[in-house]
Amino acid sequence: MPSTDASQQLFDRARAVSPGGVNSPVRAFRAVGGVPRFMASASGPWLTDVDGQRYADLVGSWGPMLLGHAHPEVLAAVNEAVARGTSFGTPSEPEVLLAEEIVARVPVQSVRMVSSGTEATMSAIRLARGATGRDTIVKFAGCYHGHVDPLLAEAGSGVVTLGLPGTPGVPAHVAADTVVLPYNDREAVTAAFAELGDRIACVITEAAPGNMGVVPPEPGFNAFLSATCRQHGALFISDEVMTGFRASRSGQWGLDGAVEGWVPDLMTFGKVMGGGFPAAAFGGRADLMDLLAPSGPVYQAGTLAGNPVATTAGLTTLRLATPAVYERLLEVAATIKAAVTESLDAAGVAHVVQSTGSMFSVFWGPDPVRDFAGAQAQETWRYGPFFHAMLDAGVYLPPSAFEAWFVSAAHDEEALSRIVAALPAAARAAAAAQPA
Ligand SMILES: *Cc1c(COP(=O)(O)O)cnc(C)c1O
Repeated sequence: MPSTDASQQLFDRARAVSPGGVNSPVRAFRAVGGVPRFMASASGPWLTDVDGQRYADLVGSWGPMLLGHAHPEVLAAVNEAVARGTSFGTPSEPEVLLAEEIVARVPVQSVRMVSSGTEATMSAIRLARGATGRDTIVKFAGCYHGHVDPLLAEAGSGVVTLGLPGTPGVPAHVAADTVVLPYNDREAVTAAFAELGDRIACVITEAAPGNMGVVPPEPGFNAFLSATCRQHGALFISDEVMTGFRASRSGQWGLDGAVEGWVPDLMTFGKVMGGGFPAAAFGGRADLMDLLAPSGPVYQAGTLAGNPVATTAGLTTLRLATPAVYERLLEVAATIKAAVTESLDAAGVAHVVQSTGSMFSVFWGPDPVRDFAGAQAQETWRYGPFFHAMLDAGVYLPPSAFEAWFVSAAHDEEALSRIVAALPAAARAAAAAQPA
């Protein structure tokens, strides 16, 4: 087993000075056990840890690294931007160029930049409430929209479940304004609107969920949500923080929105559009966006919002994300998915691989998963041994069975060979796993 001495030492020091030793919970490997790897550098499809081990990366910083790590043109643009100064606290050109690029690709007329996906969804919800004068929001169980108080309400069973706080620290009265419904369940949506329609400010959904594993919307589901919202005077917020500029050149909307005719009132973006820097955005119809300060009364602000270095990284990434890049992402994903299926079939492990564009994940059970209950029913205990076998063979997978796997356009034959070669033994480890 490869050495983890330097990672272990850093982890011990990190735990002494920060909660759980990490700045975002899944990084701590709690779901898979073992020592989280502290990375020292990254290039193309590779991560190198502080012990000098190299891994083919299938996390991609949880989505942003569409072009691979340390892309030379992104680095060059960032270095030039840094040399001009790192933050002005004034408007600057890169944020205008990035907003223009976003408006050109997705159906939004106006964009406000923020620094994280969490801020984007939080602000979009405030705007929806401000625009409608209503308080209730609808979300789906298993969809993650950042650590925003009303969006951390947990799922319950039943047709209309009034939210209970999913975490200490979220006041019950805040969660009470959140209705949590099962994903892909039109009847539940119809029932919720029948009961609460005149109180619902918005429905927020991942355009194609990737935070319970990859659970694509059933055909027409987003169009149905959009139409239902319109019928009841509520707004439809499509959260494309993960799928935006990844699932396709214009995100999930580009995959089926144009075909099915769903147009969100508001959209949220992050991850890829920051090119590896903290940059995110929300946008939508101009009449709605103009309700934001200073044009309108809904307050929203950010000291580092539209930061010139971050927006330069995002802009350069989006400009380099050509149709050829998306073709390559699909090829890379197809190669890995086929190898996963072949290895797990050979080892006799029941599984389903689900995809949205080049995003995919593996569910550990025989049945396709259409909602959070299905995702939770999988044999997650197979994932730890599988994950660690891959890690030992130099492949870095998401440290949880409920996460999407992210490929990059920089995944070359060497990285793919590493991944494909590691899979058979990992599949046998998953086959031999026992429930805890
Ligand atoms: C990652 C994510 C967020 C939160 O973004 P952060 O930058 O981590 O705050 C919100 N929505 C979706 C769909 C995400 O995948």
